[in-house]
Amino acid sequence: MFSLYNTLHHKKEDFKPLKTGKVGLYTCGPTVYNYAHIGNLRTYVFEDVLKRSLLFLGYKVKHVMNITDVGHLTSDADTGEDKMEKGAKREGKTAWDIARFYTEAFEHDIAELNILPPDIYCRATDYIKEQIALIKKLEKKGFTYKTSDGIYFDTAKFPDYGKMANLKNQELKAGARVDMGDKKNPTDFALWKFSVPQVTVIPTTKEESLSQSITDGDPSSARASLGMTKTESKRQMEWESPWGVGFPGWHIECSAMSVKFLGQPFDIHCGGIDHVPVHHTNEIAQSEAATGIPLANFWVHGEYLLTQNDRMAKSGNNFLTISTLKEKGFDTLAYRFFLLQTHYRKQLNFSWEALEAAQNGYHHLLDAVANCNTSKNSLQGIAQRSPDDTKISKKFTTALEDDLNLPEALALVWDAIKAKTVSQKTLLEFDKVLGLNLADALKSQTTPLPDAVAVLLAQRNEARDRRDFQASDELRAQIEKLGYEVKDSASGTDITKK
Ligand code: AMP
Ligand code: ZN
Repeated sequence: MFSLYNTLHHKKEDFKPLKTGKVGLYTCGPTVYNYAHIGNLRTYVFEDVLKRSLLFLGYKVKHVMNITDVGHLTSDADTGEDKMEKGAKREGKTAWDIARFYTEAFEHDIAELNILPPDIYCRATDYIKEQIALIKKLEKKGFTYKTSDGIYFDTAKFPDYGKMANLKNQELKAGARVDMGDKKNPTDFALWKFSVPQVTVIPTTKEESLSQSITDGDPSSARASLGMTKTESKRQMEWESPWGVGFPGWHIECSAMSVKFLGQPFDIHCGGIDHVPVHHTNEIAQSEAATGIPLANFWVHGEYLLTQNDRMAKSGNNFLTISTLKEKGFDTLAYRFFLLQTHYRKQLNFSWEALEAAQNGYHHLLDAVANCNTSKNSLQGIAQRSPDDTKISKKFTTALEDDLNLPEALALVWDAIKAKTVSQKTLLEFDKVLGLNLADALKSQTTPLPDAVAVLLAQRNEARDRRDFQASDELRAQIEKLGYEVKDSASGTDITKK
């Protein structure tokens, strides 16, 4: 039985899909205002391993991933600038161009990491109608209220609010670090935000060449007293709605789009651990308030990648990308291998030394697979399963089924390689989960047998099948004269260059 840690119930649970043999999987995608950093990519690799494991175990998977191209503000408390508009200002492009550029960069990065693309990518800006419809439903049921800057979800009206994250409203109030604005409760969140002009204030004196952007409604008083000039620009991404021109809050996109493609409830919803207290908590509240049914049965979260014990973040200065790794001479798949060695629910500290060790390990694995000599005619990558193969396959599957225990699965692979008890065929089968492109490595490292040797080997196999051991021994001697060593084992015949 496949067990997964379900954040919703704070324990490992046996996974049972809603429809036999089929899994609906929704993974929260990137906010496309900058490159994904290798911490973000840790989350996507964990989700890929989950998806590949489900496929390996025989499930059909429908995988949906959103692209956040509007509505994610610089503060998770629904204040600050829209990250897309901020990116546009930073690069002197339109918000739409920024979204397109970084979506392509993201697709490129995940392909480099051998992450299987989702069946459906959905951009938040393509499904505004669905998001408005969901907000209207919530309004009708009395879960919303209006403030000066938008339409908010009233978390006090949803008794189970914050259950998954064990949030206690009281504690939040005591912390008092939330920017309340006109909100009724600290945990209330925006469903729709009204457009306000983007105001850029520029100091008029030469010394004060620093320019600063603010987005409040009326900065004119500040302008007068400080001697500033002000330029106003219209928000680039905005839509008509029953509540006025504006844009959706960040969380509503995932509630609307996941259900559009997977129905409600669906099987598994994933994301990084930081999504538990805010983004996923809010998704659950609004989806369940609107329909009275759960959004998803399993909520599965990946832990952080850290650098020097600090979370890697786009806003921090410890931000590394796939390009940085490549510039320093690392294989992207060595980074994937580095990630697989730690369980997805454990924090992982990144360091160049650790990556170098992982790269050595990865190359070692490629060599071991290419030279794996327990298979029949291994130089051509042809192999037969043996009882040993069956044993290790079972253990590998058991490790996967135990909440994706990849470190354990990799340890088994190493042990079997060392003990020469696993065939190439089985290792390539395992690679369907590992995603380390072992087959490609094999192609580039495998030398085909010369024709003369291949013919003799085929004749010898026939002689052995006839139990003509004298002919078989003579043929072996001829093969050895051509520089190849032949060994017979329970798993078949193995041939290697001397
Ligand atoms: P974003 O593009 O900021 O919306 O984040 C994309 C994904 O990366 C989300 O699932 C986040 O939870 C995840 N994430 C953000 N920072 C980290 C980190 N340091 N380690 C692992 N995952 C992260
Ligand atoms: Zn989401």
